Amino acid sequence: MNQSPENQWPLSPALESQDHLQLEKSYGLFIDGEFVSSTGSKKYASINPATEQRLSRITESTPQDVDVAVRAARKGYDRHWSRMKPSERGKYLFRIARLIQERSRELAVLETLDGGKPIRESRDVDLPLAAAHFFYYAGWADKLDYAFPNRRPRPLGVAAQVIPWNFPLLMAAWKIAPALATGNTVVLKPAETTSLTALRLGEILQQAELPPGVVNIITGHGNVGKALVEHPGVDKVAFTGSTEVGKTIQASLAGTRKRSTLELGGKAANIIFADASIDQAVEGVINGIYFNQGQVCCAGSRLFVEESVAQQVIEKIKDRVQSLIIGNPLDKNTDLGAINSRQQLNTIQEYIDVGLAEGAIRYQPEAPLPDEGFWCRPTLFTQVSQASRIAREEIFGPVLAIQTFRTVAEVIQKANNTPYGLSAGVWTNKGSKIFNLSSQLRAGVVWANSYNQFDPTSPFGGYQESGFGREGGLHGLQAYLDIH
Ligand code: NAP
Ligand code: MG
Repeated sequence: MNQSPENQWPLSPALESQDHLQLEKSYGLFIDGEFVSSTGSKKYASINPATEQRLSRITESTPQDVDVAVRAARKGYDRHWSRMKPSERGKYLFRIARLIQERSRELAVLETLDGGKPIRESRDVDLPLAAAHFFYYAGWADKLDYAFPNRRPRPLGVAAQVIPWNFPLLMAAWKIAPALATGNTVVLKPAETTSLTALRLGEILQQAELPPGVVNIITGHGNVGKALVEHPGVDKVAFTGSTEVGKTIQASLAGTRKRSTLELGGKAANIIFADASIDQAVEGVINGIYFNQGQVCCAGSRLFVEESVAQQVIEKIKDRVQSLIIGNPLDKNTDLGAINSRQQLNTIQEYIDVGLAEGAIRYQPEAPLPDEGFWCRPTLFTQVSQASRIAREEIFGPVLAIQTFRTVAEVIQKANNTPYGLSAGVWTNKGSKIFNLSSQLRAGVVWANSYNQFDPTSPFGGYQESGFGREGGLHGLQAYLDIH
């Protein structure tokens, strides 16, 4: 049962049913249109982080499997995808989009079971956006000449795509949809802890009768991703994940002909001015940092509040945090689900200890946590300094570092004082301030009086150590095309 805070009426459980979801005991690799066995024999468990129970067994791909998958993608490119009329390619994408919609309940439940995120998010955010990406890029497939007039856009060939665990199916959609719309074929490696929805997507691709080899899905740990991006048969690398791994990938690609886009970490500033609608801003801050347990690259993990309203804002945030419901991710009332893995939970806890050791003041609600699984209470720190590690480093968890400011110039300087630059938020009732800040903040996305809003039509990506290249919108097409 969900743990409701003491000052609330307890909510009855509202569990999403999982009867309709059938899982295999063990999964192979999706190569050349079929589920096949590995050339090796290694498997590992994919667990439910809310219960620590095993959901299924996943294949650890061998270097030989990687090679077979890349060759299948090349064959798929040469025999099918590059020969097909763009409008026909578009039809497949529309079909995939519709199948994702049709099977969205099953996919949402699976995403929640495997990853630990609340069903409300997987149902209302991940799934609709994943389908929307396929719909959006389906529409572009036969209009590339209009997107890039007189520039003869041509596909690159085989794309190696490696994705993280925080939005498994959505990240797969962000990667696969633009690649296919532009005429490329794909080998995708999902994260080791969250491969199940990607494998189910393989079933959907079969159902859509996508020609063999056009999309291949191989599972395994980081070394499988490494073998994939370093494979000489790959023309393009698209990576989403940590800055650390992104840097090693970029180093390994130096001097090769491969094109690349890297979507890496972030340490976003959410900025509240005294003239903002305070209640709306507080909701935005809560959404910004506690959405998906803060395991979001664009999480609003640094909050800057104008000094004159700081006390009021902090009190309101504490009240709101107190009312958040942590517990069974399959319960429709749940606000915060489980942390994705024990390893990630340990990292977050280390950062909370660092914050305390650095002298910041911690606040956490009292709510009891379930006995099994990986859980972290929503946490906020006040009395944080610019030099503090919790204000500088990406934590990737539900931990908010709060600082104050007095002038516009000061907050711009503080917000930009980071090696990252993925996203930011500005809360004010003055349009002029929004224009001023959005042009001066070094961030790929600046949300104004909102946060964590996504749409397939708008490009997403970072500055500095948050990576380069854009996903979404027209820009997302460009990353998969040779344009003269
Ligand atoms: P990660 O450790 O970098 O892993 C990302 C993916 O790369 C996983 O599939 C991983 O496999 C694989 N991998 C690990 N080492 C590799 C190597 N040497 N070569 C190639 N692939 C390798 O990141 P994560 O912990 O899963 O995800 C969290 C990070 O992703 C955060 O930093 C977050 O900010 C970032 N992120 C960025 C965006 C964005 O759009 N900018 C979006 C979401 C997340 P394993 O699963 O086996 O480790
Ligand atoms: Mg799992």
